[in-house]
Amino acid sequence: MKQLFIFVDGFGLGAPAADNPIRPEVCPAICELLASHCVPLDACLGVPGLPQSATGQAALFCGRNAAAFMGRHVTGFPGPTLRAFVEESNIFTMLKADGRRARFADAYLADSPDELRARRFRSVTTTAALTVPETLSFRADLLHNQALLHDITRESLASKGYDGPTVTPQEAADHLVQLALGYDYTLFEYFLTDQVGHSGSYEAACAVLRTLDAFLGALFPLATEMGISTALSSDHGNIEAIAMKTHTLNPVPLIATGPGADALLSSCTSIADVTPAILRNLAENVKV
Ligand SMILES: [Zn+2]
Repeated sequence: MKQLFIFVDGFGLGAPAADNPIRPEVCPAICELLASHCVPLDACLGVPGLPQSATGQAALFCGRNAAAFMGRHVTGFPGPTLRAFVEESNIFTMLKADGRRARFADAYLADSPDELRARRFRSVTTTAALTVPETLSFRADLLHNQALLHDITRESLASKGYDGPTVTPQEAADHLVQLALGYDYTLFEYFLTDQVGHSGSYEAACAVLRTLDAFLGALFPLATEMGISTALSSDHGNIEAIAMKTHTLNPVPLIATGPGADALLSSCTSIADVTPAILRNLAENVKV
């Protein structure tokens, strides 16, 4: 069985409200997935204060309560203590220990793991992927459509001297599904939802959601057709309450379709449950 996991940063479940852009007129495919293939997950992890990216992502990708371990929610990029927590055991190390092949589909604009190690600030996902460097995707992979850019369409590359083609969200979805067929587990990370959530701009949030919706609206049916188990979750809320420029206390979605989806949805109540559930799903549906 193949598992595809979409990580959408800063995407919570809020009640319908004037400043909540997650609505059918803006993102119909996402709303349909939320209505029919989704359970809410706690992102607060029993720790007071607003949930933050570093501990939220560490909980999501390590399957352990990183906020409780740190005694607080840690924002942005992990420091030495949280980095060690992530490096000790994460989805990529656990898959490797099980003899499974994984891929982090976001292309870095770099040519080697050493270039990434030299960077001062590294996200949880980069830190985790660097523990199994063969999972990483680089510039050459992007040019061969063997990876995606984090913005889905590559439009943000124009300001960085890239003169290659842009892609449609549907083409990017096709690239990701083709890539996922070659690995046991493939991760794609999308973080513009969190960035735009901090901007407070409702129009900018709608633009980001429209691109994401076109991508996911193509991705989920195609992945299902190919027999790929596909899941989506987040680290904390943000974009669902645009008037508030900070993160929120809202639960985040766990969307799952394909083989083992029911087991994934019924066995997770917090973001720390997702990675263990995915590993069980891979073990139990190995012949599907
Ligand atoms: Zn944020």
